[in-house]
Amino acid sequence: ALNQSLAEINGQINVSFEFFPPSNVEMEQTLWQSIDRLKNLKPKFVSVTYGANSGERDRTHSIIKGIKDKTGLDAAPHLTCIDATPEQLREIAKDYWDSGIRSIVALRGDLPAGGGKPNMYASDLVELLKSVGDFDISVAAYPEVHPEAKSAQADLINLKKKIDAGANRAITQFFFDVESYLRFRDRCVATGIDVEIVPGILPVSNFKQLQRFAAMTNVRVPQWMSQMFSGLDDDPETRKFVGASIAMDMVKILSREGVKDFHFYTLNRAELSYAICHTLGVRPV
Ligand code: FAD
Repeated sequence: ALNQSLAEINGQINVSFEFFPPSNVEMEQTLWQSIDRLKNLKPKFVSVTYGANSGERDRTHSIIKGIKDKTGLDAAPHLTCIDATPEQLREIAKDYWDSGIRSIVALRGDLPAGGGKPNMYASDLVELLKSVGDFDISVAAYPEVHPEAKSAQADLINLKKKIDAGANRAITQFFFDVESYLRFRDRCVATGIDVEIVPGILPVSNFKQLQRFAAMTNVRVPQWMSQMFSGLDDDPETRKFVGASIAMDMVKILSREGVKDFHFYTLNRAELSYAICHTLGVRPV
């Protein structure tokens, strides 16, 4: 059994890839090269983020359209509700539906600087989307608890609300403490959440940037990880291998724990995600 591949043990593994709208011509080229490579792994879907309050939803839409036209992949735009009225959201959803988009990642989005009380939560957005069309909807989940949540339990009940409103799966915030994901998954089951809790895998190559990111999002960066990257601030080449090795170990454990769906935060680069998929047995057909 030791020689059995993870794919043989687990059967079908589904992957999805997340991209973001590039901000210049060079990054745009990188994005399309990455999509071109990752499409060969036949992802279940790919998604493109939309920065809440950025006013750049059109860029997300045009990349989604480009992916659909060029690759035929199921392409899901991220949509946030914090920066739009219900009327606008219905309009956007209708527009997406009319252009053949059937999958959406439904989010609230971060509060703008200065805070305030949100007009809508993601659960309201899921309900609104379902009233426009029978979209396949992914929502966000937080194994280490969303920073604004009153408690872990309240956050879990919020996730249940999103699923009860019609969401088809949850994608987690990135994490490095595999135990926290596994405990969270158990708590989801105990709460009656019966959809896949898809782990969001972030292959890390820029550790400094990660530390900033993690602090903002309530994600714990374990001590062993800091040690792994220690001394590599000026060595991007080695950092890449270290990051790949960490992510490969993570997906191996998750896979042995029965996880069959993986979502990759690609940061628009194919290399690491592709290699990690390969070790999972996800290969071009
Ligand atoms: P919600 O599910 O609405 O939850 C937000 C907070 O409110 C939680 O703390 C929840 O417990 C609490 N809450 C919910 N309902 C209530 C209630 N009735 N009363 C009081 N509290 C309540 N951001 C972007 O801007 N663009 C993106 O493309 C994007 N993509 C993402 C993809 C993934 C997979 C993930 C995990 C996050 C993404 N984000 C994105 C970040 C996300 O927008 C933020 O984390 C945001 O702060 C919360 O969004 P949510 O959909 O989880 O909100």
